[in-house]
Amino acid sequence: MHDLWIASNNRKKLGELRRLLASLPIRLHTPDELGQPFAPVEDQPDFAGNARKKAELLAQLSGSFALGDDSGLCVDALGGRPGVFSARYGGEGLDDRQRLEHLLGELRDVPAPQRTAHFVCHICVCDARGRVLAAIEARCEGTLLTAPSGEGGFGYDPIFVPVEFAGDATSTFAQLDAATKDRLSHRGKALRQLMAQLPDLLATP
Ligand code: IMP
Repeated sequence: MHDLWIASNNRKKLGELRRLLASLPIRLHTPDELGQPFAPVEDQPDFAGNARKKAELLAQLSGSFALGDDSGLCVDALGGRPGVFSARYGGEGLDDRQRLEHLLGELRDVPAPQRTAHFVCHICVCDARGRVLAAIEARCEGTLLTAPSGEGGFGYDPIFVPVEFAGDATSTFAQLDAATKDRLSHRGKALRQLMAQLPDLLATP
């Protein structure tokens, strides 16, 4: 059984990653087991850079394999914002709902056909020495509602309607069950690509 440390302090995101990786014979660890703060500065210009930074730091601190996930929402009408700033959009100290309201305010005058957006998830896996073993990026296309709808998920889920959902065309990620979100989401797509390689990667000497 291999050990893999997950470089995130976001409980909801950790829940999704645990769920997605559940079928693999891997022991997952989280930064709270370190006994010291894990607070990487996410100052890279892209998702790949931040995911790598998180994975490298946790690999170094844990002395084991580590997985970094950096993700965010890119809104076309805002030139790709919030993008890598998704977790702190609108300023430090806001909660998920306040960030979402901030974004809705910016999109107030944007009509439905132009409310297109996509989520990005970049996953990086490093070995104990900080060498990058895998780097995978996936996205999920959608449109943004003018008001939140649904109680599930986290972050911007209550306004994001994935285009690939075959049901009604207005269900947000926050209204879909976990299995459906995992099937369609940026994180689900990236993780499935990774899972095909992960047992071999973790057997790397
Ligand atoms: P990170 O921890 O820096 O990768 O922050 C990612 C941020 O992007 C989260 O705090 C959310 O605001 C947003 N985000 C990423 N993935 C999702 C998702 O699946 N649903 C909703 N929001 C997401």
